[in-house]
Amino acid sequence: MAVIMHVDMDSFFASVEQRDHPELRGKPVIIGGRKDSRRGVVSTCSYEARKFGVHSAMPIGQAVRLCPDGIFLPGNHDKYEKISKEIRQVFAKFSPVVENLSIDEAFLDMTGCEHLHRSLPAMGNAVKQAIYDAVQLSASVGIAPNKFVAKLASDYRKPDGLTIIALEQIKDWLAPMPVTNIWGIGEKTAEILAAWQIHTIQELRHCSKTQLIQYFGKHGRNLYWLARGVDHRAVEPDTEAKSMGKETTFRENVTDTAVLRQVLAKLVALVGARLRKNGLWARTITIKLRYSDFTTITRSSSLPQPINSDDTIFETADRLLKKNRGTAPVRLIGVYVTQLTTVTQATLFSDPREDKLTKLMDQLNTRYDKPILRKGREL
Ligand SMILES: [Mg+2]
Repeated sequence: MAVIMHVDMDSFFASVEQRDHPELRGKPVIIGGRKDSRRGVVSTCSYEARKFGVHSAMPIGQAVRLCPDGIFLPGNHDKYEKISKEIRQVFAKFSPVVENLSIDEAFLDMTGCEHLHRSLPAMGNAVKQAIYDAVQLSASVGIAPNKFVAKLASDYRKPDGLTIIALEQIKDWLAPMPVTNIWGIGEKTAEILAAWQIHTIQELRHCSKTQLIQYFGKHGRNLYWLARGVDHRAVEPDTEAKSMGKETTFRENVTDTAVLRQVLAKLVALVGARLRKNGLWARTITIKLRYSDFTTITRSSSLPQPINSDDTIFETADRLLKKNRGTAPVRLIGVYVTQLTTVTQATLFSDPREDKLTKLMDQLNTRYDKPILRKGREL
């Protein structure tokens, strides 16, 4: 059973200003622009300001009307960024798998780490306390078996909240919530659902999967499962590189598909080796083709599991090539991998024999400047 934690700082920018300027404590503080600024929106406001109906993303002018005595500040992004870094260092002490969603929000995959704590509440409080010790700011924490529920849980008792939702509680807990609490339900979807008299998550459960898919396409399937609190998305740690790739420009345009495949295989081998060297897996494979007339296309395919073997990358890239090759002479070919992650679920599904061979090839190939072992398709 996964243990996912969502941490969200409480009115982050406003709290920082109240921390650094005691005279602002207990006052409605609104960050986003000065009172006389015609443009700009509220980026954060203190809980005191929320009582006046002010909220983030609201135009400053409207906030001034609602809360004329509020303290309006432009904010200091460099300072917030620096504090955010300190908070991320705290997260790293609790989990090796952290996905930062924004400057003040993150998912921590605590699966397996929960045994290091007396209980889930103790674990949640330890994270909150560690953040407070580091930056003297409060955070709200949600703990649940998946990301969707954990995020709603952190929001449940803000500020300074801690909410833990166990698997068996999920269905009842979600039932009375408005459908707009579901990720991806925007105004448009909500309008259609309202026309069907569906306002709560409980009511959304009356829709069949077929019906939802019919109306909302692929997204319909997500709605069906999220309404039941089912969410299989993994916490995806940030990696330095967001993508890796290699491309090559031919001295003379190439029309022979066999040659293109051969070059593609070489590029895949280089990209694959680099992925593995960095301990990364990729979920999306992209090929790039530039034709003789300089038209450039990129075509991508995402896989259900992250992968990092040359065979899988090549299979996907080759399929994309076949499908999109056309007939025009090719000037440049490239392959890219994105959606990089260090989460290693992929290893559960990969063939151990193939892994062994790949490892051996990588070891030999990194011992010399040039690869000495190659797969047949590169020759
Ligand atoms: Mg926040």
